Amino acid sequence: MTQSHHSHYDAFVRNVRHSSRIELSQSALKKNINFLQKKLGPHPRYSAVIKANAYGHGIPQMVRMLEQCGVNHFSAASAYEAEEVLEYCSNGCDIMIMGILYDQDIEWAIRNGIEFYVFNYGRLQLVLEKAKKLKKKAKVHLEVETGTNRTGMTEPWFKKSVAFLKRNESHFQFQGVCTHLGGAESRSNQFKIDQQIRRYKQYLAELKKRKFMPRYRHIACSAAVLAMPETHYDLVRVGVATYGFWPSPEIYYQHLQEVGKDKDAPMNRIISWKTDVMDIKDVPKGEFIGYGTAFQALHDMRVAVIPLGYSNGYPRGQSNNGYVLIRGRKAPITGLINMNLFMVDITDIPGVEIGDEVVLLGKQRNNTIPVSSFTNYTQLINNEMLSRLPTAIPRRIVK
Ligand SMILES: *Cc1c(COP(=O)(O)O)cnc(C)c1O
Repeated sequence: MTQSHHSHYDAFVRNVRHSSRIELSQSALKKNINFLQKKLGPHPRYSAVIKANAYGHGIPQMVRMLEQCGVNHFSAASAYEAEEVLEYCSNGCDIMIMGILYDQDIEWAIRNGIEFYVFNYGRLQLVLEKAKKLKKKAKVHLEVETGTNRTGMTEPWFKKSVAFLKRNESHFQFQGVCTHLGGAESRSNQFKIDQQIRRYKQYLAELKKRKFMPRYRHIACSAAVLAMPETHYDLVRVGVATYGFWPSPEIYYQHLQEVGKDKDAPMNRIISWKTDVMDIKDVPKGEFIGYGTAFQALHDMRVAVIPLGYSNGYPRGQSNNGYVLIRGRKAPITGLINMNLFMVDITDIPGVEIGDEVVLLGKQRNNTIPVSSFTNYTQLINNEMLSRLPTAIPRRIVK
């Protein structure tokens, strides 16, 4: 694979500090991958889904960390993300684009050995021309329609596409046949998921009839990896579970039943998000804190000023709700989350000083703020909260 290999993933080093920082635990990732690999057994290949800047964790760091765990197949949502993976992965890693690849970028993908989904028959002709021009095989996955009605080709187009690939075998590598199970984390969708699987099998039967099989049959996301072994096939696309999150409570409870325990933590959160106390204020009874009148001190209070706000990924919906950790204790948010600041109540936490570590997400001493706590007061689901963390926040790999 030709690629511009850069190991300088923190090349853009600033002289001054950012307002917060993210830490990523290599040992937590290792634990997650080990657990998931054990579920999968030796056959299916593990593809780590790194879309949305690796669910907010950071593509450069996650690629390096995943490679350390032996994962070297990466699924991106766009060519743009795939290019970032290419920059940071080792020679020999495989990258797959599941979503948007513009016509203008097809040549780039073929030249760099990047695999990509094709969901329109019409695109194959263009891909063929580019592959001929470059004298290099295009690695394509045919995405089939099974019941989500987003991307994916229906059976008549699939048959034509398969015939096209077979006719032009010298210019194509038939890398995969795939679909996405929409909503596999929820039992109430099971009838639909079952139908998707049945339909997928019909496409496979078609291929078998023609004795023309792809390298990878793949349909499983995290929920399917954890709860539906019959979906594993030859490759699995694991997103949220890679980062240590259960796709839903149901999937977690199913796991507990399987192992016969009432509590189990085979996966751990990788991410922590931290900052520091910027200033400390004594607020007399009756005064307001921050913008407007959102919070009034009903007694003499002491507050800590936190140097980030909604422009830095901290959800505004946390205003007057939620808390951060300082000195291992919960400090409740007082008033509105501003663009670059917010305040927390430290009246009952003795000894807080300017510069003390503040945990926004993760563990401090005996307390933890889980990602899911943000769903208590905001409409943000875990994935949305994480994927909104700005790329500008520095990310550091820790043990
Ligand atoms: C996001 C995505 C996945 C991974 O989903 P998780 O539930 O996070 O594991 C797999 N396949 C496709 C096509 C996706 O878009």
